[in-house]
Amino acid sequence: MPNYAMVIDLQNCVGCGACDIACKNENNVPSDFYWSNHMVSTTGTFPNVKFQYLPTLCNHCMDAPCVKACPTKAMYKDDNGLTLHSIERCIGCKTCVLADPYGVINVNYKVPHQSWQSDEALIPNVTAAPKEVIDKTNTPIPYYNPDREETYGGVRPRGVVEKCNFCDHRIKKGEYPYCCVACPARARIFGDLDDPDSEINHLLSRYTHKQLLIEKGTKPKIFYIRDF
Ligand code: SF4
Ligand code: SF4
Repeated sequence: MPNYAMVIDLQNCVGCGACDIACKNENNVPSDFYWSNHMVSTTGTFPNVKFQYLPTLCNHCMDAPCVKACPTKAMYKDDNGLTLHSIERCIGCKTCVLADPYGVINVNYKVPHQSWQSDEALIPNVTAAPKEVIDKTNTPIPYYNPDREETYGGVRPRGVVEKCNFCDHRIKKGEYPYCCVACPARARIFGDLDDPDSEINHLLSRYTHKQLLIEKGTKPKIFYIRDF
């Protein structure tokens, strides 16, 4: 079985955020949080200043503390090395959130996409009210992607957690995670870590790489190359 991982090429990344938006669209992620996110930092003193844009997401850790901590096995590893989540088994205890050193597990404290239930038009007598729009499109949100339902909840309910699952519904069809497809700079490369001929392994043998919080022993599978 494959052991899926991702390489992020920091010199190719232009910091446009297309991955974050693509992930939201593909996975119907609520407005309160992001599954695919980024950190920005500026260090140094002018004129010797360094700006860094670091894309972040679930690391699909090989030794995942969220999986070990979950009391109901709602957070689990699949045969492809993905860290996945079951809405049905999740009791919303947030033990995984505390165990995850990367802060990538989000909690649905509110009913997702609730703003679309509003009867109030943004501009009265000019625009439609959000509820009018979803009633006409007959979907939870106008830009709803029904493909997400193939392996997970199309929209996850209030009271459970959710996070990146490497677009497992796309992987099952032989497609790449949508963040990789949407990246205009080809900065995100997805592949099988156990295949010596995979592109990610070629990149990892060619360039030095870093992983986040490697000292935690989680064996994270997001590899950053060409840091500068
Ligand atoms: S990054 Fe966090 S949520 Fe993802 S597998 Fe690792 S510990 Fe779990
Ligand atoms: S919130 Fe859900 S996934 Fe997280 S530890 Fe509790 S039951 Fe498991």
